[in-house]
Amino acid sequence: MLEKLVDPYGRIINYLRLSVTEHCNLNCVYCRSEQQVCRAGVKEEVLTIQECLAIAEAAVELGMTRIRLTGGEPLVHPDILDIISGISRMDGLMDLSMTTNAVLLDSMAFKLAEAGLDRVNISLDSLDEETYRRITRGGKLYKTLNGIEKALQAGLTPVKINMLLLKGVNDHEIRRFVALTLDKELDVRFIEYMPFLGQENWQQYYLPLDRVMEIASAIAPLVPVKGEHGGPAKYYRLQGASGKIGLIPTLSRHICSVCNRLRVTPACTIKPCLFSADEIDLKPGLSDKEVLKEKFRAALKLKPDPARVYCSPYERVKQFQGKRFMTQIGG
Ligand code: SAM
Repeated sequence: MLEKLVDPYGRIINYLRLSVTEHCNLNCVYCRSEQQVCRAGVKEEVLTIQECLAIAEAAVELGMTRIRLTGGEPLVHPDILDIISGISRMDGLMDLSMTTNAVLLDSMAFKLAEAGLDRVNISLDSLDEETYRRITRGGKLYKTLNGIEKALQAGLTPVKINMLLLKGVNDHEIRRFVALTLDKELDVRFIEYMPFLGQENWQQYYLPLDRVMEIASAIAPLVPVKGEHGGPAKYYRLQGASGKIGLIPTLSRHICSVCNRLRVTPACTIKPCLFSADEIDLKPGLSDKEVLKEKFRAALKLKPDPARVYCSPYERVKQFQGKRFMTQIGG
């Protein structure tokens, strides 16, 4: 019998972000600091296939209907196809998706679809080769563009592009990204930078998403569209366009009231809120499903009161207590 996870503030928590590995084949500047890139010899955390399946099974039995695989880079996990095929067969699961940089999608998209993956979100922060290389510390733009095409061909749709807006780095490309939605069935989502690398110089990169609205509405009238799964993204369509524009204002708006998620990190801890330092270790008793489920229920109680969250970016940054980089949490 499936139950429903409802937190103390009445939010239904039906979405699990399962970060399968801390390892990544890119080193994006907003994701890892210089020191983290250079820490040779440090062991990176990876969930085993058994851990992934046990956690996903408990989550689905608790009424979670959507699971997203993320990382680090989920496609570098050696057992990713088996993880997908195990999770996709679970009764009650309605949506299995992945967030990826798409570098390996050219060779893997069809195998992923065959294994049971429903769709992908692809991180792409620049359409300019040199800027892409700079943001990813060495990545090749053509690989991600080929990956996007392959995802569309393999039916991993709707394909959503995540563009992390970085002041002075890629904000001159907003118009180009918005225009991608005109004739391609792509959803392009703009995300505000969050201070995972430290709270001192977050304003170096931070740009509120109002700028995207200004630029998009100068191209064509913007029509609001209802999002498919709830959650924090607000969607619009340029009149007559094939794809949608999504806005995820992580700092400038009060999005916590619609939070519907829990996160599991590659260190096998459950993280109730991106902004808080609280975590529950899932490793002890992992093979006992009841113990695991009790930890999920305990995590709900640690979700912060959305009424106490500020919506000014300056106040919000001060509330940020997390101690992990995004690669160690799962973006
Ligand atoms: N490797 C995969 C990828 O590139 O899509 C999945 C993991 S990566 C951590 C996922 C996403 O997390 C990034 O593309 C970005 O959108 C988000 N992210 C990482 N660091 C962030 C930050 N400082 N602020 C906001 N979003 C961030």
